[in-house]
Amino acid sequence: MSKLNTYKDVWVFTEIKDHVQVHDCALEILGKAREIADKLGQRLVGILLALDAEQYIPTIEEHGVDKTIYISHSDLKHYQERIFTDLIFDLIKKYKPSIFLFPSTEAGNALAARLAYRCRTGLVSDILNLELKKEENNLLISDKPAYLGDIIVKIICPETRPQMCTVTMGTFQKNRLKKLDLEREKVQYNFDPIKLRIKIIGNPTRKDKPSATLSDAKFVIGGGHGLMSKENFDKIFILAKNINGQVGGTRRPIMDGWMPEHLQIGISGETIFPDLYLSFGISGAIQHIVGITKSKTIVAINKDPNAPIFKTADYCIIDDAPKILEGLLKYYRG
Ligand SMILES: Cc1cc2nc3c(=O)[nH]c(=O)nc-3n(C[C@H](O)[C@H](O)[C@H](O)COP(=O)(O)OP(=O)(O)OC[C@H]3O[C@@H](n4cnc5c(N)ncnc54)[C@H](O)[C@@H]3O)c2cc1C
Repeated sequence: MSKLNTYKDVWVFTEIKDHVQVHDCALEILGKAREIADKLGQRLVGILLALDAEQYIPTIEEHGVDKTIYISHSDLKHYQERIFTDLIFDLIKKYKPSIFLFPSTEAGNALAARLAYRCRTGLVSDILNLELKKEENNLLISDKPAYLGDIIVKIICPETRPQMCTVTMGTFQKNRLKKLDLEREKVQYNFDPIKLRIKIIGNPTRKDKPSATLSDAKFVIGGGHGLMSKENFDKIFILAKNINGQVGGTRRPIMDGWMPEHLQIGISGETIFPDLYLSFGISGAIQHIVGITKSKTIVAINKDPNAPIFKTADYCIIDDAPKILEGLLKYYRG
């Protein structure tokens, strides 16, 4: 245990979204992490890797950190597995954080898993809440849904450090707070390109895609595999246009080639906060459900009365999704 006591401070991976802004989810995590750091009497540290990283530090500092450790380099414009993992692993070895929290995003999930493996420590993904267990040396307790969300399990990491979790957007609230003695530490970029196992021989294929506006939309129409064809799926875009809504969906229509990737809702996509979520032909896999539970009202249309989505929906329509969609289109088109 004495060795574990050499680990201190709470770290948050302050991810940069679309290389234009600090990810909202990271700012939300800082709100909760501040509470935890205060209870532990330790420091809250933002870990920032980006191109022109300095520009993002003021935002991070307005959300409660004591310190920002940052690395700025053109190779850090986009998330790259090997580079980010190596650089941050070096920081962990040097500073030994007790807790390290990540946004549950494509990059955050991949990075957290790789770092947890390198540190030979545990990782809890998509937690619902965090608290400290006073009786046991202030261990971090993570609440996590299991069995399609039917039960909540409490998970601790008593033997290894850091204690690591990923957090879904909307789980915590931002807290605007500027500490007095702010510290910034610039770490030199020292990644040796020889370590890269992949060679980039042209322009990066990842597109500078615009952020989906899904998380801001008040009305979201979700489509799933139950819409049965691209032709049917295209109709939800028309409906959305008619009623000023946004289209999102499950992973299946992306695999089917009916919908672009950035419209995915769920654990590896966007979390939505609309007044109304209207879902067509979606089964309700937990990976999708975690992204829709912050909707004020959920209406689900599925032909299977036992579809899991009906456990989460406020209104359940057991019927043919393409038929209901066609009816709504007729109604709105007049
Ligand atoms: C690591 C990982 C991450 C993932 N991340 C995500 C994520 O972020 N988001 C996500 O959505 N998924 C994600 N998935 C995939 C997820 O597990 C499910 O496979 C996916 O959500 C299912 O999509 P679906 O409901 O459209 O399709 P299906 O599961 O195939 O369900 C189709 C539904 O349509 C109904 N249906 C069929 N015909 C009709 C009809 N005519 N009318 C009405 N209803 C009909 C069926 O009854 C069924 O319930 C992830 C999976 C993994 C392993």
